[in-house]
This record gives sequence, C-alpha cells and structure tokens, in this order.
Amino acid sequence: MCEQSVTLGNIGSHIFFMTEKHIDTGRFDDLGIKKNFLEILKNKGFEKPTPIQHQVIPGALEGKDVVGIAQTGTGKTLAYGIPLIQNLATGNGGQGLILVPTRELAQQVADALSSIGKSLGLRIAVIIGGVSSRPQIKDLRNNPHIVIATPGRLDDLMEQRQYRLDKVSMLILDEADRMLDVGFLPQIRRIFKLAPVNRQTMLFSATMPPSISSLASAFMKMPLRIEIAPQGTSAENVEQEVFIISKPDKMRLLYSLLKTYKDDTVLIFSRTKHGAKRIARDINTVGHSATEIHSNRTQGQRKASLEGFSRGRFRIMVATDIAARGIDVKQISLVINFDLPDNSEDYVHRIGRTGRAGRSGKAISFVTPSEKMDIRKIEKLIRKTLPILDLPIIAREQSESFSADRSFSSRQSFGGQQRQRGGQGQGQNQGRRRNFSRERRYGRTQARGER
Ligand code: AMP
Repeated sequence: MCEQSVTLGNIGSHIFFMTEKHIDTGRFDDLGIKKNFLEILKNKGFEKPTPIQHQVIPGALEGKDVVGIAQTGTGKTLAYGIPLIQNLATGNGGQGLILVPTRELAQQVADALSSIGKSLGLRIAVIIGGVSSRPQIKDLRNNPHIVIATPGRLDDLMEQRQYRLDKVSMLILDEADRMLDVGFLPQIRRIFKLAPVNRQTMLFSATMPPSISSLASAFMKMPLRIEIAPQGTSAENVEQEVFIISKPDKMRLLYSLLKTYKDDTVLIFSRTKHGAKRIARDINTVGHSATEIHSNRTQGQRKASLEGFSRGRFRIMVATDIAARGIDVKQISLVINFDLPDNSEDYVHRIGRTGRAGRSGKAISFVTPSEKMDIRKIEKLIRKTLPILDLPIIAREQSESFSADRSFSSRQSFGGQQRQRGGQGQGQNQGRRRNFSRERRYGRTQARGER
C-alpha cells in the first residue's frame, strides 16, 4: 500500500491530562493524515480540526489507546473516524468495531464515516436491534471494514455464531456512559474480553463516572486521556434558562414558548414515552408540526421521524432520552426540557443537541418546585448557575382555546399572581433572570398552588 495515500483493500496507567481550551486547533495537514484523505476532508468542507480532533488524531494514528471526554457536537465522530479509516487502510487490514448506545447514533456514525470513506471503498455494516437481522448477517459476511453496532444485537449475533471478533483490530466505544446507563455493561465486558488483545481501543464519553474509569483501566493499554472541556461542562454556546412551573401548567407554558420561538427548530424532552406521545399529540392539535421519537415506536417510524425533523418537515420533535441520543440535527436551535432528566448527566447530553458545530443554541428547562434539588445537582455538575425566568403571562383567550389540554388548571393565567408583565417571550424574559438560590419564596408559592 502506498505510503502517502489511504486506500481500503479487501480484508479477510499512564494517563495524560490535557484539560485546556485550545485557541488554535491548527490544520488537518499537521496531524499525520495522508494526502488523499486530506483532500477528501477538504472537499467535504472540513477546514480546521475541532479541538477534540486536534488532540485525538495524532495519538490515535500512532495506534495509541485513547480515552476522550467530549460531548456530542464536538466533532468526536471524526476524531476517531479519521484514524480508524486511515489505520485500517494503511495497516495490515483488520476490522474496526464501533459500539454505540442507540440505533440512531449507529446510523449517524455510519453516515459520517461513509461520507469520508466511500471514495476509498469503505464498507460498513450497521448492526442494530428493532429491524430484521437477515440483511445485517449478509453485510457481516461481506467482510466489512467497519462494523457499527448496538451491543445488544451484536451480542445476539455473536451468540448465534453469525459474528466473531477475531478480526477486530480497532475497538471504539462511543457515548460509553450512555451505554452503561442503558444496561449494556455485561455485553461490553464480553466484547472487551473476546476481542483480540493486540487491538487499539478508543473510548469516548461525555462524562467519566467511576464505572467507565474502571472499564478503561481493566481493558485499555495506557490510554491517552483527552478532555476537551471539564467533565460535565455544558456546551458553552448554549444559553440555558429555567422556569419554575407547577406540573399542571407545563403544557400551557410549552404552548406559549412554541409561539414565542415560532421560527426555531425545537427538540422537546419528556421523561417517559407516554409523555412524549401525549405532548406530540397535543401540540399537533394546536397547529404545530411535531413528530415523536421514543421506544414505543418501530424502527421505521423512528427513522421517518428523524428524517422528517432533520429535513424540516416537522419543526418540533418530542423525544425521550434514550431515543434522542445521537441525534445530529444541526438546525436545532432550542431544546426544551419539559421534564427534567432522571440524572444530571442526561441534562448535559440533552442540551448538547443544540449549539452544535459552533452554532449557538438555547435550552429551557421546566422545573417543578419539588425538583429544586435536581436543578442544584445539575448546576453543580455544569459548574454554572442557571438563571430562572419569570413565567410569561398567557392571555385569557389563548388559554381558553387550549381545550385539548386536559391539564389546563383552573387558574386562567399563570404567573398572574406573581409578576404581572405586559408581554411574553424571550425579549421580555431577558433581564428578568434570577438565580435559583434566590428563588425559595417563589418555589413555595408555586408549591402551594399545586396542592
Ligand atoms: P459529532 O460531535 O461527531 O456528532 O459532530 C458534530 C457535527 O460537527 C457534525 O455535524 C459534523 O459533521 C461536524 N464536524 C465535525 N468535524 C468538523 C470540523 N472539523 N469542522 C466543521 N464541522 C465539523
């Protein structure tokens, strides 16, 4: 194989802390990437490496194990994708195996890698649950260079002797914290144990709980640890705001915000799949175009929702945490946490859906008075105080037209007893920010209102 170029043929604890802000991420040319591959990146419009790419690519190209602490939206897919493709092409063959927590992320990673690897002859097999395994088995028999899989389905196919790990020369875990959250630890440990020992391993995670650190120390060889932002730090270009709201009033606040942000592409998070379904139904009823993505939907429906949302057919998508993982829709400008997530780490993942690839975004969270401790935990994790906004006042007529909203409370306007203001929306909200610790009295008022 030519030294200067990348082609894909047929294929049968030292820890460094690098926590810093990079002012200059240099050029792709300086990272050890082959000339023809540089050309591809240039043609795809990737001009400069992102900080995580700048730091991961050189070490990974040398074959080092890497632990990368990075959120989605930072360019981490290509941070491992570029070395993966180049090492597979210039090494002695072998296969890359990428493990991801969700089907959507698997597809997204496949799209990102095939966009830069297609012209090199890259073959990818996507192995995910929820769809027939027959075509996947066929793809596996076709000697793919890279297998991208959710651990559950891969494990099933290994059980059925349809897939063996003996060719794996590079093993990548993407969004490792989420994989553990959804209970894939046993499958991951099995894969780590069965994969050839002399492989290269890279692990990426937005957060680094002890369970991940122990996986890394058990199964990785002196990994280079690269942290591009302090752990748990939320995307810097995402403006974050909080409304304290009683549960029955959430729907009306949502209607109000969807009107205020009528030109935005909005991702709404619900804690449960039933909640997501109900929210999507109700906002569709009042005339918004919304779709939903959660585990009660078939893989085909999830795909159609995601495609419709990313192509702009739906302005709004309502999602649960698991289903939303891996969503890379660049135009998402507003994330609404209709419910707070079950754990603080998920807050970081959720707001990482906006403000992607250097754009700015906004995240608004609905917090009930009883969730005050949850918001404090989030603030501790992100090392930021979240500003609390005054509730917008909903006009009586507007509220009354929301007959579809069964949770409509007897109060005709919320916030009416608190801070009457002559308007609603973003403009008025600015300058009305308070911080959570000063908010106790307000919280109690709301709590009384709920009873
Ligand atoms: P990721 O964090 O891998 O999901 O990437 C987030 C987004 O950033 C994706 O839409 C990528 O196409 C984009 N991206 C990745 N690397 C670069 C780069 N060097 N320059 C500009 N955009 C990039």
